Order: sequence, then structure tokens, then C-alpha cells
Amino acid sequence: MSTVFRTESDVFINGQWVPGQDPFDVISPVTGEKIGSFLAATPAQVAEAVAAAWRAFPSYRVARWDVRARLLRRLRQLFLAHQDELADLMIDEVGKTRVDTVTADIMPAVETIDYYLRRTPAVLAPRTLRHFKPPLWGKWGRIDRVPLGAVGIISPWNFPVSLAMAAIIPALAAGNTVVWKPSEQATLTGLAMARLFADAGFPPGVFNVVTGGPAVGAALTASDIETLLFIGGTAAGMKVLQAMASHGKTAILELGGNDAMIVLADADLEQAAAGAVWGACANAGQICSGIKRVIVVGREKADALAARIVQVASGLKMGSGRDPGVAIGPLISSQARERIHAFVMDAAARGGRVLAGGQIPPGPGFFYPPTVVTNVSIDSRLWQEEAFGPLIPIVAVETEADAIAAANSTPFGLSASVWTRDPEHGLAVARQLRAGTVMINDHSSTWGDVRCPWGGFGLSGQGRIHGDEALLELTAPQVVVIDKAGRPKMWWYPYSAGKARFFRAAVDLLYGGLAAKTAALAALVRKRPQGE
Ligand code: NAD
Repeated sequence: MSTVFRTESDVFINGQWVPGQDPFDVISPVTGEKIGSFLAATPAQVAEAVAAAWRAFPSYRVARWDVRARLLRRLRQLFLAHQDELADLMIDEVGKTRVDTVTADIMPAVETIDYYLRRTPAVLAPRTLRHFKPPLWGKWGRIDRVPLGAVGIISPWNFPVSLAMAAIIPALAAGNTVVWKPSEQATLTGLAMARLFADAGFPPGVFNVVTGGPAVGAALTASDIETLLFIGGTAAGMKVLQAMASHGKTAILELGGNDAMIVLADADLEQAAAGAVWGACANAGQICSGIKRVIVVGREKADALAARIVQVASGLKMGSGRDPGVAIGPLISSQARERIHAFVMDAAARGGRVLAGGQIPPGPGFFYPPTVVTNVSIDSRLWQEEAFGPLIPIVAVETEADAIAAANSTPFGLSASVWTRDPEHGLAVARQLRAGTVMINDHSSTWGDVRCPWGGFGLSGQGRIHGDEALLELTAPQVVVIDKAGRPKMWWYPYSAGKARFFRAAVDLLYGGLAAKTAALAALVRKRPQGE
């Protein structure tokens, strides 16, 4: 276990490490053994962290961009210097494979820093207002994008680095201060990241960390935080939304998914099979935007695809990501594995055919093999709920329209993919899908391209991370206008019948057609208003 990252304590408030109170353990899903014991923040400490973030906000919000950029560049250096230790922590703590740590956590995290270093000044640049309407002559103004304040961030364990960075970096780049609660199941990784932020030199209170589980998250939603960016499951996200709304606050929610992969009749079978297995099994299937339903146009095509998927999936090596050739790590916990297994059993009980996997292997850790199920009933849990494991349910439909209807038939709308040899046609299908991202002949990998806004419809959440959109989500427009004319305005008191007639004529003059304008002008010349 890394020693570089050992922190003095488990909670980071106002630039100080302080001990929490409620003990909890982190269990490695690879071995099933305890790999860390921590003390979670108390509700009072959460409130203290939020108060520290508010105290730091007035000076941080007006810090020049080059000051913030210097801190982000320093963080980038530290992050790259410690990337291998972060990867090892993720492998042991959440069961990642070596390739997944690099492609889906480390690289997107660095891309995130680079993207917001590059884009923040342009996206948040003030827009000048010039008033051309005669009543507003003499004014000058602009629309600024201003930071929101002390922002709460709650993140999950499945991409403990890149998801957290996708929230924290734009928040800090935009001038907000942050209170972050990493997932309790990724506490070692979370504290390692916290150490890097602390060492990067953000001023006290700008970046705070409250360690612990749902109770700590709930304390954050009940606090004086301005808004909350929540990334996690739909059930918890709904609770967060309700809690925030109950005191008049908003939340940005990035929640679960039930992504469809639509395989059209002309799709390349080899590519679709390889894509389906990777899209469903990478990160042991624990990806919000993993392929969770494979919908194939044509029975014969579906059978051929299922057979090829079984072959590809059976070649995948399962084990600890410390072995770089391992393709499938464990599920995060014993309960997560029981849940996935129950999904498979439920599907089988409703007529599903389990072609591969479907059994809990002996031995330590929470492993579950890639599992291929055909003939899946649409009322099964496997179809309706978000499965979080290496499951590949396949259904055959007769027409493309059926495939689109099936893809859109769940309350989720995170991402989707269309597989075809005709990309133009794929785009036409994409336009009919209710999903925040649709890829043609690939799935989910826009996560690695930080230009692409990330988020979904329906139960998959609201608001977006990544892209310029994250900066817009984490700021608000503020209009500032200077009146340079320095005299009373026509629309101020006193009011009179003459002034009312004048403004009525002004409507026609400004917005009417030629005849209305002429009549209004004549009326204005005839009747001068009282007042200014
Ligand atoms: P989770 O909802 O159990 O926990 C996520 C975070 O929320 C954790 O930090 C947890 O401690 C906290 N939390 C739980 N209950 C809370 C409450 N009532 N109030 C405040 N905080 C609370 O999710 P998880 O198991 O960590 O992650 C897996 C889920 O996250 C999946 O559903 C997955 O699809 C989703 N996810 C979504 C995205 C996305 O970008 N849309 C990305 C990754 C994961």
C-alpha cells in the first residue's frame, strides 16, 4: 500500500487534516479483506467544512485567472508524478484492471485539467451589452459568468479519480470553493487525491474533504452548501434532489443508466461482438454508461452475434488488475455480486437462456464471470433495472423501429450506440434515441474526450459535466449595467396620460410595420409627453 499518500487524518477542513469520528473499513473486492480503517466526518465537521468553503469564497472568486491556473498546473504535475500509485490504489481498492485505470481514470483526469485550463477564460469571458433602443441610450453593460459559491460534490467509487476530477476541476476553475465527499468504498483513493490537492497549495478552505458514507453525504445536502453536484446511483440521487429542494437549493445529478446497443441488420458481426463484450464487461460491467442491453434486428443475426459474444467473452482473464493481462476485475462488494446474480436468476426464471457465465466462482474476492443471456423477457429485472456487473443480455427484434422503441423503453437515458456499416443511417437512428450520448460503432468512450458534455435524460440525471457545459452549470450569469447619461429617465415618475400615450406610440414605432411606425411618429410629433 502506498505510503506517499498516507494523510495525517481522514478529514480535510480549511487546509488542516483533522480526525473524523465514526469508524468504517474499506474491504478490497479483490481479496475480500480489509485494507483500510477510517474515521468518517461528523455532521458538525461537514457544517464546518462548508463554513470554511464560504469563508474562502470571497477572495478565491476574485482571484485572477492566472492564480487559479497556476494551482491547476501544479496539481497536474503532482497528479502525473503520482499516477502509478493512484492506479495501484484503484486496483486494490475498487478492483480495477490496469488498462481501465489508465484509459478511463488517469487519462480523462489529466484531459480534464488541460481542457479547463484551456477553455475557462474563453467560456467565462464577459459579454458586452450595447443598448441600441432609444430609451436605453447612455447605458453600457455586460453579462459576466460568476461562480456559485461553496459547492458540494459527492462522487461514486467506480471511476474514483476521473469522475471526481470532472466535478472538482471545473468548479475550482470557475472560482467556486468545494467540499468533496468521495465514495466511502474508494476512501484510500479519495484521500490520496485530497493529498495532491492539499500539496498543490489551494488556499485554506478552497478545497475541503469530508470522508464517509451516505450519512456524511446526507449531512452535506442538509448543510448551507449553495448547490450539489452528485454523481452516483439514481436512488441516492433522488434523495439528494429532494433534500436540496426542501431548502430551496438545486442539484446537478449524474445518475445510473441502462444503455442500449442497437445492432442493425447490416452491422459487422465481429466488430459488434468485440464492442459488446468490452462495452458490457469493462470495469467488470460497473460503468454508468456500460452496455446493459443488446438489441439486435433479426433473429438470425442475434443468434450469430450471441454465439460470437460467448466465444469472445470466454477468452477474458479474471483476477487482480496487478496482473496487467487481466480483463475482468471483481465486483465492488459481496452484496453487489449477490444482486447481479439475482438478476441472472430472475431472467432465467422468466425464460432467459444463460449461454455463458451465471455462476459465482469459488475463491476469495467478489468475482463474477461475463454472463451472456438471450431470450430476455422485458419484464425481467435485467431489462428494467440498472445492472452493475459483466452481464450481456441479448434480445432479437424484427424491425429497426422495434429496436428504437425497445431502446427507449426504460426510464433511463444516459447513452446508447448504433452498430451499422452505414454511418449516415446510424445517425438517423441516433436522432430517435433518448440518450445524452449516442455513438455509432463504439460505446461510452466519449468519456475520454472532455469536449463532450456528459449526462442524460430521465432517471439518468440532470445537468452536464465535461465540456463547456460544466463551466456553465457551475456558474450563473450576472448582468451589470452602468447608466452614463446621469439624468432622470422617461419611465420614472411622474406618470401621466400623456406619458402613457407616448409609450403606447413607442411600441408601434419600435416594433410595428411601416404604416404603424408612420402613424406612431405622427402621434409623437403631435403629442409631447409630460415629464422628462
Ligand atoms: P451510490 O449512489 O451508492 O453512492 C454514490 C455516492 O453517494 C457515494 O459517495 C455515497 O456515499 C453517496 N450517497 C449515498 N446515499 C446518499 C444520500 N442519501 N445522500 C447523499 N449521499 C449519498 O452509487 P455508487 O454505488 O457509489 O456508484 C454506482 C452508481 O453510480 C451506479 O448507479 C452508476 O450508474 C452511477 N454512476 C453514474 C455516473 C454518471 O456519470 N452518470 C458515473 C458513475 C457512476
